[in-house]
Amino acid sequence: MKPKLLAVFLLIVFAPLAILGWLGLRFARTEGELMRHRVQEVMAVLLRDFDADIAGLLEQRERELMALPPIAGRPPNEVRALIRTLPAVNQLFALDERGVLMYPDATKELSSTEEAFLRRTSDIWRRHDILAAAGDAGSDRTAPVRKSDQPPERSSQKGWHSWYWGEGVNLIFWWREASGTIVGAELNRSRLMADIIAVLPETGNVPMSQEGVVGMNRLVNSKREPVYQWGHYLLPDGELPLVTIDLSPPLSAWQLESYLHSPLVDADFGRGLMFNVFGGLAFLAAALVGLAVYFYREQTRDLREAQQRVNFVNQVSHELKTPLTNIRMYAELLESHLEEAAEKPKTYVGVIVAESQRLSRLIGNVLSFSRSQRNALTVHGTRGSVDDALRCTIQSFEPSLAKRGIETRFNANATDTIEFDRDVLEQIAGNLLSNVEKYAQGADRVDITSVLDGESVTITVADNGPGIPARERDRIFQPFHRVSNKLTDGVAGAGIGLSIARDLARLHGGDLVLDPSEKGARFKVVLHVLPTRTQEPS
Ligand code: ADP
Repeated sequence: MKPKLLAVFLLIVFAPLAILGWLGLRFARTEGELMRHRVQEVMAVLLRDFDADIAGLLEQRERELMALPPIAGRPPNEVRALIRTLPAVNQLFALDERGVLMYPDATKELSSTEEAFLRRTSDIWRRHDILAAAGDAGSDRTAPVRKSDQPPERSSQKGWHSWYWGEGVNLIFWWREASGTIVGAELNRSRLMADIIAVLPETGNVPMSQEGVVGMNRLVNSKREPVYQWGHYLLPDGELPLVTIDLSPPLSAWQLESYLHSPLVDADFGRGLMFNVFGGLAFLAAALVGLAVYFYREQTRDLREAQQRVNFVNQVSHELKTPLTNIRMYAELLESHLEEAAEKPKTYVGVIVAESQRLSRLIGNVLSFSRSQRNALTVHGTRGSVDDALRCTIQSFEPSLAKRGIETRFNANATDTIEFDRDVLEQIAGNLLSNVEKYAQGADRVDITSVLDGESVTITVADNGPGIPARERDRIFQPFHRVSNKLTDGVAGAGIGLSIARDLARLHGGDLVLDPSEKGARFKVVLHVLPTRTQEPS
């Protein structure tokens, strides 16, 4: 293949493939992202469920605490006794309307737990955080206590307060008792943690029970330190969670995180799609290359055939040259020897005649072939005897056949006058006898038989030469086909004689076939008798 053609071929094949590949890649990437997004949504819903469970736990605490007997105004000993019955609570407290602690009362004797509570919560009371959250922190903090049955509409009845102290976040739940006094409880952090963990799935639980999925969820505190995690997954350093959600207040500084490795989320999904896309493209490329090779082969076959035709013309010209040279040479000899003995000029004239006949046969073949290529072959019927025409052709071959030791025997049975194309018959017979002359090496006879059978005349030409190999029997009738063996090597011929002879026979309503024979080649020509018509002047 020429480099230019190869470049065009590569461009035609690979440019569309490159475009398709690019589109496929984009598709795979978008599809991968879409899938990741969907999984993220599913995981976010799961995490929100866990958050709802934690929120449910805190609501439960709220209900339990609000169901406690009134705390405000109780003697400290009783409150202390009450606290001892509440494992989830560190400390209870009660505020007066100015936001000053009524219990634990710093002015009175305190237990060590109460002292510690006041120490860690001092900022809250100083800033009146809880009073403000309850909506009671007006400009006048010294206002009289409102009647318990008429709480101000804007005032809140309960709430959470979170603050950082020690190792992390601490929670205070406050509520308004029936008297209107604000009381509250500091939750026990360890206990709260244990309760939260209890509502979350067990450590061995897998976030998504699907094949090929590895995942882990975890609860992290405000410093992003893991508080608890479940699932089988060793988190590599620096890996970011697939989904993160903040817990609902009051634990909104904490987060739930989900890490997931699944074929749907990872690049594997896109990669799988890409694999499919590239598989398809490879198949397409193979199909395109196959198609290109097919067209290339077709094209080279056309080129080969064109080349064959050129060779044919060369061959024919070459063939025309030899008889012409002979004609010229013998004509010249005839000229110089005419006065000599009468025998020699006779031989020379005989050669001139034979060669000119051969030349006209060759030219006749070339012309017939070009006409048959243009579908312009025609038959012209004349009245006459088939045997006469055959005899004429046989006579012209007799001397050269005799020279090769081939005896010509003519069994003539078609003497009646019929309508047929004499030129066609002579051309067919001439080609068959010429082949005997060329290829029937070692033969000692050729039998020509003619039989007239009502509507058709059958002529057989049978020699006892080497014959034609069985596998070549059909192919010898194809144009330009020559049996390649030592018989044809060195023998002039373009491989069109039998093809033209068959075309002509078929045009004449008959056929030319190679009949089976024990020895040699046996060709059978059938010509249909043409309908009688008035002869048009040519
Ligand atoms: P050409 O003679 O120009 O090669 P033909 O079409 O007349 O072409 O013949 C085709 C082939 O058939 C020849 O090349 C030859 O091999 C084979 N052939 C034809 N007639 C005979 C024969 N009588 N004996 C052996 N081979 C023959």
